[in-house]
Amino acid sequence: MALIVQKYGGSSVSDAESIKRVAKRVAEAKKAGNDVVVVVSAMGDSTDELIDLARQVTPMPPQREMDILLTAGERISMSLLAMAINNLGVKAKSFTGQQAGVITDAVYGKAHIVDVVPVRIRETIKSGTVAIVAGFQGVNRTSNDVTTLGRGGSDTTAVALAAGLSADVCEIYTDVDGVFTADPRIVPSAQKVDRITYEEMLEMAACGAKVLMLRCVEFGRRYSVPIHVRSSYSARTGTLVTNEPAPSSSESEDQAVEDPIITGVAHDRSEAKITIVGVPDVPGTAARIFEVVATSGANIDMIVQNVSAASTGLTDISFTLPEADGPQALAALRAVQGEIKFDSLQFDDQVGKLSLIGAGMKSSPGVSARLFGALRDAGINIEMISTSEIRISVVTREDSLNDAVRAVHSAFGLDGESEAVVYAGTGR
Ligand code: ADP
Ligand code: ASP
Ligand code: MG
Repeated sequence: MALIVQKYGGSSVSDAESIKRVAKRVAEAKKAGNDVVVVVSAMGDSTDELIDLARQVTPMPPQREMDILLTAGERISMSLLAMAINNLGVKAKSFTGQQAGVITDAVYGKAHIVDVVPVRIRETIKSGTVAIVAGFQGVNRTSNDVTTLGRGGSDTTAVALAAGLSADVCEIYTDVDGVFTADPRIVPSAQKVDRITYEEMLEMAACGAKVLMLRCVEFGRRYSVPIHVRSSYSARTGTLVTNEPAPSSSESEDQAVEDPIITGVAHDRSEAKITIVGVPDVPGTAARIFEVVATSGANIDMIVQNVSAASTGLTDISFTLPEADGPQALAALRAVQGEIKFDSLQFDDQVGKLSLIGAGMKSSPGVSARLFGALRDAGINIEMISTSEIRISVVTREDSLNDAVRAVHSAFGLDGESEAVVYAGTGR
């Protein structure tokens, strides 16, 4: 008998029919003799709809109230799923994050899990009942307020619970067959990866592949939780995220051992770019600028500083950050314009980021050349570049991002023969 944690994403429980379909799957796993804990997301796009609703009431909803509002989404799906499972003759009980013992810090909207105390979940499984847990939420011990874990947070609830319960596996059920070499919604010829290491998956998730939330992969790696990403619409084996790399195939034996091994192409539309125009090129300016931005609470991703024009001694500095952090960062910079003496600020939210991920990038200059060549052939302009040992990222116009992803995916020979299936969801 195994202990399985299953997580079903929003598109898998978007209406009554889907909930009944998921209930059947859960009941089958239970009837096969397993102990089953289920983590569930809010129905369909209901989290986005709740956010839209709050914005119609006020442009700046208080964060505490926002979290209370958003936790309602997962409470609806958890109770409906428990009802549907009971209706199939299998005992099931639903629990909020708080009832399930998911303890977080006090950061509303992007709280971190600090402890998992699943006392009631253990009792429930012991009594032969399926435990259904609302994903994406927890409680802060000090304030006793409910918190949410950030978008996609149900993945993290699932892996954290799997770690806390020492489950045999954490199954993430979604609307595609697993982790692909690129988002199958954009690249139909993307191929499913059978196995991927935590490190590779961390990089894919950090670069925008939202099939798994970044923090759930970090949790999985820290506690060695095997994560199986698969479709709730098919019986196909999905992608296993583990410590062990895939065994090398016979094909790759021809490959020189030092050749870069490409994992995939990820993309991200959620960033924006700020350019600080006419910055005096003197020591300490960059330090001051990024001190100010850091205090505003913004997370910075790529930074580019141009060579200063000799005649003026002025330079431009651009950086990317999550679009949502833009307003605070801009306000903080405006406040020190006189002190730093820069000319002006530009904000651009129409940017997209493409990242090519794989091992051995930095030592293979041919990789960047091939990537830039693919973008040139597709007529796509590169605005920023950053590289690391396992990643090359470029910023492009947002409306050419899909073409860029397809071009780079093909250029690195990642296209497969068959078309990837997207079973449901809106991609929102
Ligand atoms: P859920 O509602 O199940 O949590 P998400 O929408 O959060 O689902 O994540 C699944 C989606 O992630 C897929 O529908 C797909 O569009 C997107 N995605 C992005 N990159 C990848 C990738 N490399 N492999 C698979 N899916 C990806
Ligand atoms: N419902 C939340 C969201 O849409 C959490 C999740 O789906 O994982 O982000
Ligand atoms: Mg998700």
